[in-house]
Amino acid sequence: MPAAPPQRTLLLNASLEPLCVVTVHRAVVLALSGKATVLETDGRVLRSERAAVPVPLVMCLVRYVHVPHRRTVPPTRRTVLQRDEHRCAYCGSLADTVDHVQPRSRGGRHEWGNVVAACARCNHRKADRLLSELGWELPFTPGVPRGAAALLVTTTRTDPSWSAYLVA
Ligand SMILES: [Zn+2]
Repeated sequence: MPAAPPQRTLLLNASLEPLCVVTVHRAVVLALSGKATVLETDGRVLRSERAAVPVPLVMCLVRYVHVPHRRTVPPTRRTVLQRDEHRCAYCGSLADTVDHVQPRSRGGRHEWGNVVAACARCNHRKADRLLSELGWELPFTPGVPRGAAALLVTTTRTDPSWSAYLVA
């Protein structure tokens, strides 16, 4: 029995920039209508009465679409951990919590520029203090994820075949 088809397909713009993640069903519709070309497939073929389409893992639009601006995803535990690649901003070890750089109890806002991934130990040590009070420094300036990073924080499931297309 064949393995289940992938749940999601990475859709690239005609410029090969990552655009969005679509369901395989939507991807097949795009391929059948000639609006997108399949770039990567897992070798299997979906057959209907009239057509056979390779199961798309990555595809690109035939015509370039202009994307004025991408809707920003809110910072949640999952999206912040994903942005920071599950690395603690303070010690670099595996992070599983989110820390407000300027503590909420001291007026810090819950926004991309004030949240970082943190390990439980650093989060506990930092408590409601400011970095200046601890002599700690951030190795980077936290910000809103953009480009491929923005795309990745919106999806929970990726496929290894996508990685070559997500360098941005
Ligand atoms: Zn840490």
